[in-house]
Amino acid sequence: MKSFNPPRRTLMGPGPSDIHPRVLAALSRPTVGHLDPTFVGMMDEVKEMLRYVFRTENDLTLPISAPGSAGMETCLVNLIEPGDVVVVCVNGVFGGRMKEIVGRCGGTPVVVEDRWGDPVDLQKAEDALKANPGARAMCWVDGETSTGVRSDSSALCALAAKHGALSIVDAVTSLGGTPVLVDEWGADAVYSGSQKCLSCVPGISPVTFGERAVERIRGRNAPVQSWFMDLNLVMGYWGGSGGAPRTYHHTAPVNALYALHESLVMIREEGIQDGWARHRRMYNALAAGLEAMGLGLFVAEEHRLPQLNSVTVPEGVDEAAVRRRLLDDYGLEIGAGLGALAGKVWRIGLMGQSATPVNVTLCLGALESVLADAGAGITVGTALPAANRELTQG
Ligand SMILES: *Cc1c(COP(=O)(O)O)cnc(C)c1O
Repeated sequence: MKSFNPPRRTLMGPGPSDIHPRVLAALSRPTVGHLDPTFVGMMDEVKEMLRYVFRTENDLTLPISAPGSAGMETCLVNLIEPGDVVVVCVNGVFGGRMKEIVGRCGGTPVVVEDRWGDPVDLQKAEDALKANPGARAMCWVDGETSTGVRSDSSALCALAAKHGALSIVDAVTSLGGTPVLVDEWGADAVYSGSQKCLSCVPGISPVTFGERAVERIRGRNAPVQSWFMDLNLVMGYWGGSGGAPRTYHHTAPVNALYALHESLVMIREEGIQDGWARHRRMYNALAAGLEAMGLGLFVAEEHRLPQLNSVTVPEGVDEAAVRRRLLDDYGLEIGAGLGALAGKVWRIGLMGQSATPVNVTLCLGALESVLADAGAGITVGTALPAANRELTQG
């Protein structure tokens, strides 16, 4: 056995995204104890910076020591009790997972289904809430990474509140890339992931809970069935506002949290609004280039998520062979279609540090060469000028 030395890749799939050298450097700093006073100080800064990216004053805002799926599960296991009816909006892979977890919590999912590539339909969501008075919660995915569609979380949160249901929002792909306005939306529980638009190492899931959600957790009849994710216990480690001493719950991923701290410092330096604008600008350039080549985007323009673009695979093209050549010849990773879209689309991510003019240019140039070589019948020579026009518009 020898040391593992991974190749250098450009990551433009559905996550993980490119990680800045500053964040990788932070990861390699000396490990301290997870109750070391200096580490506890850093934890407080991480919480404060998470409130900044989530646009919230929520006290209960912290990183769960596990990937985005665990953030999803943390929200659901803490808020749902056996017997609860939960409206679950499903318009892609991740909504389907929420439904599965609600069932495992002993809840009854009422599914509002929308076509993959469409946003959650507000009327259907409201009809489900009306048909199920007393529903405990409504949950949905703000940015569905399996399709690249964005739903109207502001309106959905308002609907949930109007009908007395808690709102549980998946912002794994959204956070840092498009506005996630927890307080303005009045969202009750929101979770995300470290490896998408936050451009940190995978394996951490930021979550935030509002007052109604905290009351709900405190007022549960049944204990949370997951010991690890029980926020009543996790709070003892991450600390609340009371200033009670931190006690051992689990060993935090110390170095990964250094990395999260650094990635959040970088987001603050850029300014979150400027970050959203950068994602939008890079999307405009990528989309202009793809369209100039003659490629189609799967989601209707007004509902697209700038940080995740589903591109329709042209007729007769072996989509896996194209991805393989991009990886082998250009060190470029793009994503395959997931679930119902497997084989039908590529998913090109512009997340966090991957949303740069260099990456957009590389991706368009490489894709053009590989597709032309594969005889895909695309227009050659127009993609980069089209992208450049967008990039130079400031
Ligand atoms: C990536 C993703 C998840 C799951 O995150 P993991 O870190 O892979 O567990 C959940 N929801 C959405 C929308 C995602 O994009």
